[in-house]
Amino acid sequence: MIEFSTFEKSFLFILLGLTLYSGIRSYKILFATIKRGRNNLSKITVHRTWKVLTEKIILLLPTWKTRFWSNLFHIMIVWGFLIFLIINIYDLLNRFFPTFTIPSPFAKILFPLTDIFSGLIIAGVFYFSLRRLFFHKDLMIRGNVKLIPDIRKKINQDSAIVIALIFIHVTSRILAESLKAVYIPNNLWLPITNTISSIWIPTPFVIFFWKVFSWSTLISLFLFIPYFPYSKHFHLMLAPINYLLKQDTKTLSAIQRIDFEDETQELFGAVRLEELESSSILDSYACIMCCRCQNVCPPYNSGSELSPAAFEINKRYYLNQNFGRMNSSSFESLPLTEFAITEKAVWDCTTCGACVNVCPVGIDPLSDILQIRRHLVLMQDRYPKSFQVLFKNLERYANPWGIHNIHRLDWAAGHQIRTVEQNPDPDILWWVGCAGAYDSLAQKSSLAFLNLLNHAEINFSVLGQLENCTGDSARRAGKEDLFYQLATANVEILNEINPKRIVTSCAHCYHVLKNEYSDFGGNYDVIHSSELLLELLDKNKLVMRKNFNSERISFQDPCYLSRFNYKSDSLYSVLEKSNCEISTSPFNHSATWCCGAGGSQIWKEPEYSEKSINDIRFEQLTSVSTKKLITACPFCKSMLSDANQKAEMSVVVQDLSEYFIENIIMEN
Ligand code: SF4
Ligand code: SF4
Repeated sequence: MIEFSTFEKSFLFILLGLTLYSGIRSYKILFATIKRGRNNLSKITVHRTWKVLTEKIILLLPTWKTRFWSNLFHIMIVWGFLIFLIINIYDLLNRFFPTFTIPSPFAKILFPLTDIFSGLIIAGVFYFSLRRLFFHKDLMIRGNVKLIPDIRKKINQDSAIVIALIFIHVTSRILAESLKAVYIPNNLWLPITNTISSIWIPTPFVIFFWKVFSWSTLISLFLFIPYFPYSKHFHLMLAPINYLLKQDTKTLSAIQRIDFEDETQELFGAVRLEELESSSILDSYACIMCCRCQNVCPPYNSGSELSPAAFEINKRYYLNQNFGRMNSSSFESLPLTEFAITEKAVWDCTTCGACVNVCPVGIDPLSDILQIRRHLVLMQDRYPKSFQVLFKNLERYANPWGIHNIHRLDWAAGHQIRTVEQNPDPDILWWVGCAGAYDSLAQKSSLAFLNLLNHAEINFSVLGQLENCTGDSARRAGKEDLFYQLATANVEILNEINPKRIVTSCAHCYHVLKNEYSDFGGNYDVIHSSELLLELLDKNKLVMRKNFNSERISFQDPCYLSRFNYKSDSLYSVLEKSNCEISTSPFNHSATWCCGAGGSQIWKEPEYSEKSINDIRFEQLTSVSTKKLITACPFCKSMLSDANQKAEMSVVVQDLSEYFIENIIMEN
């Protein structure tokens, strides 16, 4: 008979009980560990579940951005995994109750799907094994990056164990089913099972081998269930859960406000795993260790010790090493800077968000890095020396340049410009920004924009001496108390003025005014200068020259416009109006490459000595034979101009406004 004996069923019952016990215990420890973080997990709703199910699990949409073949094989394994979740339950019930079956319409779908996906899973397993064996596509992280000792060995061992268990499980099941079909024809379209079955000869050995393969199917499953939470392949389950529980935020890596008036708050930022948010702990389990984030990380690619992938992988292996301890509130983990990331690496991050944008499973290393910075600055008073000047200037003069506010409008001397005191009811309040007011290169862009506004006869005002730094540099450097101070003061002024619309040419000011001041009670209609230019061109308030030569330009998408705020469409639309030919670098739109200024890097020296980020970006942009680089942020302009000078090239680096003023009919 093709069925288990009573003794075998009893043995199976005991094994199943032990597996479930150890599995449930592991999962309980795991969820208690995740819950040790600061709770920021979202509620699960039907809409959210449906979205995650369709976009992230069934279609695996986020993974298709790169690596087509790997994704194809990956999707086979993911779908196969889902099908095997169901078929394993059926198999178990069938071993206990051999007459148990499922209704015909479902059987006609489930069994053929299982058959096909068994073949696809085996193909996927072969693909990934060969890739690892012959192309050494294992953890490719440079030697200067911090990694837990022996981590490569552990990852290879883990992969070998999981691949072996999957292979044994799937092949054993196919063989068992093909042997069963010798005695019990299935009348279903099972191309793999029935083809193999056709080669067996009905002898008593068939039953013996059916039992052997049935047991190896079950034992591989029973070994897999408790091992799964330790394995990197646990992402198959935790990546969808991560998506399901992630809070929706306004933008990538939204930064949480600290309430400095709350005197009960004793911990600022985070330096240990349990001090991070729960979603950050969950991130470590969801990581598929693909290193996509590292490939697009500008500091890593310029030789830095910073690798967002290594950071997540180290977090994960530390959790594995301390499984069963991390869940206890009395256990204090090591500081992250001792095992997951060096302090130098923490200070190298440009906060460009490329890692978050590219991650196929929605992991956010940037938020953790900012939490560590906060902790180092606010709790330990540790930060790069050059930030002393930045913080002092922001405290004393409310701008990073350390120039008194009475000079805020010096750049516009002799030009037609009115402050809110002179024109209290403007249609547009122009937030010039500290760079636009004090940096000589950015002042040229401000003048160009001023001329465009005046030419289009816009009713606008500026804040003049009332304008302070938005605090972006302080916040990204971890000095949240200073940001709090600047943000509170700015919001108070802005709320009093109650502007109809705010326009700014600075990508960083734009991001903070639009997305971060709402936590301080400041909700404004904020637009970038490119959006206003587009509007003015559409309304014919600005008219392009008809006879100007179409020229070839390269465009630098600022991270805080094109990635954090998905503004690249308006940026490119406005450029297209100018009839220019845009040469695209390999990194553009939301996949742009940072100029190297963000995350307060512009105020400090890099922590490494290889090629600078701005030089790399300049090369990328000029590799497409262009004589003109256009950007839409004063910090990008400054960094690319420096690189231009260093490279001794005669490329013209301009802000959008400067480029436009050359191509607009200025005479009325
Ligand atoms: S935010 Fe940018 S610089 Fe920072 S880790 Fe991510 S990719 Fe690297
Ligand atoms: S964080 Fe995301 S992109 Fe980076 S290695 Fe992990 S899964 Fe890949």
